[in-house]
Amino acid sequence: MTYLPASTRYDSMTYRRCGRSGLLLPAVSLGLWYNFGGVDSIENGRDMIHRAFDLGITHFDLANNYGPPPGSAEETFGRILAQDLAPYRDELVISSKAGYLMWPGPYGEWGSRKYLVASLDQSLERMGLDYVDIFYSHRPDPNTPLEETMGALDFIVRSGRALYAGISTYSPEQTRQAAGILRSLGTPCLIHQPRYNMFDRWIEDGLLNALADEGIGCIAFSPLDQGILTDKYLRDIPDGSRAEKLSGRFNWGDTVSAARVATVRQLNKLAQARGQSMAQMAIAWVLRHSQMTSALIGASKVRQIEEAVPALDNLTFSEMELAQIESLL
Ligand code: NDP
Repeated sequence: MTYLPASTRYDSMTYRRCGRSGLLLPAVSLGLWYNFGGVDSIENGRDMIHRAFDLGITHFDLANNYGPPPGSAEETFGRILAQDLAPYRDELVISSKAGYLMWPGPYGEWGSRKYLVASLDQSLERMGLDYVDIFYSHRPDPNTPLEETMGALDFIVRSGRALYAGISTYSPEQTRQAAGILRSLGTPCLIHQPRYNMFDRWIEDGLLNALADEGIGCIAFSPLDQGILTDKYLRDIPDGSRAEKLSGRFNWGDTVSAARVATVRQLNKLAQARGQSMAQMAIAWVLRHSQMTSALIGASKVRQIEEAVPALDNLTFSEMELAQIESLL
């Protein structure tokens, strides 16, 4: 059946300006790291993307390696785009990245111009796009001069393959340097994509200040700590959850630790007192910074997206609530 987006899609979403740029992003964006790969149900992926767009989520975040297998999330997204969303391309902000291993040999990862340009060309082909809106250097490369990586981003924008340039997981110092190089080349750094949530607060130690100084926007990935900052693990590790599927990888056993779950249990009571679910409070908490453009969530089900967006109805925290959260963390 032909997909028709909801006519109400712009009625309730909040859009925030990305740094000192002209681009507005939805305060909640959807990432396709998991659940959109070749191993996953395309119908479920399609339902999630439709629902997201119906709720005003205009920004979809991808990377060359999302899947599994690597590349397949871009293929899935390309199929959904071609079938349903092509008429709405100008209402969408689509991002991709390169930095992690994609193909064998010396040109298949990190930050050389050779790799970044080839990888983006492959991403465009997989998604059936002429250009992405944002292209990121996915991680800093200690062995490639920053001038080369930033020069590649500048070339990518000038060649029309991307409209804006971004960086991900760069330290405060690397961010200031990257921003300076990009500015001197005439392609400003639009956005930084760091990991940020109640259990991982590294960006408070210098990065947010750097972004404010440089006029760069910020989009926080894993605001729910991959699902731990929801009510999902309060009793056990449910079948089909990310922790159950990935047990053994990423130290999941440690991540969903008894201590962490005990903290989430306390945080959950605070969320309820605010009239929010745990997931909603975790998203609101990330968005409390003025530099924070968007919270970049993941989802395995439509209802998780439906739960995330109303977080925007209560973004204000009293001093007391913040102090209580602080004491629990
Ligand atoms: P989240 O922290 O939002 O975790 C999402 C997962 O949490 C879902 O897949 C789901 O897992 C669970 N979840 C979500 N909502 C709920 C809910 N209401 N109740 C219960 N469980 C819920 O984000 P991700 O870690 O998925 O990262 C988001 C995006 O960030 C990625 O898709 C990617 O685009 C980007 N990213 C960028 C990186 C980078 O290096 N730049 C690295 C990692 C991610 P379940 O399967 O258990 O249902």
